[in-house]
Amino acid sequence: MDKIKMTTPLVEMDGDEMTRVIWKMIKDELLCPYIDLKTEYYDLGLPYRDETNDQVTIDSANAIKKYGVGVKCATITPNAARVKEYNLKQMWKSPNGTIRAILDGTVFRAPIIVKGIDPYVPHWKKPITIARHAYGDIYKATEMKIEGPGKAELVFTDANGNETRELIHDFKEPGIIQGVHNLDASISGFARSCFNFALDTKQDLWFAAKDTISKKYDHNFKDIFADIYENEYKAKFEEAGITYFYTLIDDVVARVIKSEGGFIWACKNYDGDVMSDLLATAFGSLGMMTSVLVSPDGKYEYEAAHGTVQRHYYKYLDGQPTSTNSVATIFAWTGALKKRGELDGIAELSAFAEKLEKATINTIEGGTMTGDLALISKLPNVNKVNTLEFIQAIRAELEKLI
Ligand code: NAP
Ligand code: MG
Repeated sequence: MDKIKMTTPLVEMDGDEMTRVIWKMIKDELLCPYIDLKTEYYDLGLPYRDETNDQVTIDSANAIKKYGVGVKCATITPNAARVKEYNLKQMWKSPNGTIRAILDGTVFRAPIIVKGIDPYVPHWKKPITIARHAYGDIYKATEMKIEGPGKAELVFTDANGNETRELIHDFKEPGIIQGVHNLDASISGFARSCFNFALDTKQDLWFAAKDTISKKYDHNFKDIFADIYENEYKAKFEEAGITYFYTLIDDVVARVIKSEGGFIWACKNYDGDVMSDLLATAFGSLGMMTSVLVSPDGKYEYEAAHGTVQRHYYKYLDGQPTSTNSVATIFAWTGALKKRGELDGIAELSAFAEKLEKATINTIEGGTMTGDLALISKLPNVNKVNTLEFIQAIRAELEKLI
C-alpha cells in the first residue's frame, strides 16, 4: 500500500516523561507505516524549553498561527521540585498557558466513550464537551480582608480622571471584599470559538451564567453571546440544523444530568474549572479525555487532557513494565490529522484517522486495555496489557480495517 501523502505540515509539539515515550510509539507503530507524515517538529520537552529560554514554545504557537493545526504531547509545568530535578535556569511558565495566550483560544474537552466503561450517569450516551473561558473573573481578582467598620466602594477612574462610584457595603464589622473583571474582547473571542466549534462538530451549544443575580457582569456575557449569535452565526446554525441556547447555571446542571449528551457546554472560567473535573470523573477515566484549543479565527491545537504521567515514567526508567493509556494521545493525533485532511482536501487522510479511532475503540471493546481501564471495565473478559502491547493490539485492529 502506498503511504498517504500530506501537503501542509502539522505542527508537532513533543513533550515530557511517559507521554513522550508514548508519542514515539504512536508515531512508529500507528502513523509512520501508513502516512508520509509531514510535520514541523518542535521539542517542547523541558530540557529543550530550558535551553531555548522557552522560545521554542512561542515558536510552536506561532507555527500553529501559520499552518492552522497542531498536535501537542503533554508537558511538564515546572514547579520548585522540577527546577531542581532538571536544573532549570528558571521556573518556566506553563506551555499550555503560553500557547493559549498567543492563540487567544478556548479549550474544549470531551470524553471518548467505549462499551464497558460506563459513565456514572447511565443515560449519557454521547460525549458532553466542556468549553471553559480562560480569562478573568476570580482568577484575576483583587481581594481585601476588612478588619472593622468602614465603607467599601467600587471606583472607576476614566482616562480624563472622572470617577464613577458604587457602594459595595457599609461595613459595621469585619468581613471580606473581592474585585473581579473581564474584557469584552475576551468574552467575544470565547463566544466565537464556541460558535465555530459547534458548527465544526455539528453539536448544539449551551451557555449558562447567573444574569438574574449578576445583572451587569454576567448579563454582559449573555448579551455578547446573543449579539454575536444573532449577527454572525444564526443563519449558519440554522443551516447546520443545530441550536444555541442560553439558560441559568443552576438550570443547566439539571438539564446536563437529565440529557443523553452530544452537546457543547460553554462555561465561565470558574464554572468550567469545576464542571470539567466533574464531567471527567463522571465519564470514567482521565486517559480517555481529549482536549482541543480553538482560536476565534479557527486555528486548532489537539492534545490529551492528562499530564505526563510522571509516576509511570519513573517505573519505566526503572525498567519495570508500565500500562499507560495512550488513547487520548492517539485521539489528539487523529483529531489533528482529520482537521488537516479536511482543510487540505485529503479525504484519505481523514478516513485513515477515522479508522485509527475505530481500531482503538474496537481494541478496548474487544477486551484488550491498559490497567486504568481494566480496573473499571464492566466487560467479562478483560485482558490487561502493557503500554506497547496496547498500541500493537491497536495496530492489529487497524490492519483489519485497511
Ligand atoms: P497526570 O500526568 O495526569 O497523572 C495523574 C495520575 O492520573 C497518574 O499518576 C495516573 O494514575 C493517572 N493517569 C493520568 N493519565 C493517565 C494515562 N494516560 N494512563 C494511565 N493513567 C493515567 O497528572 P500529574 O501527575 O498531576 O502531573 C504530571 C505532570 O504533568 C506535571 O509535571 C504537570 O505539570 C503535567 N501536566 C501537563 C498537562 C498538559 O500538558 N496538558 C496537564 C496536566 C498536568 P496512577 O498513578 O494511579 O496510575
Ligand atoms: Mg481545576
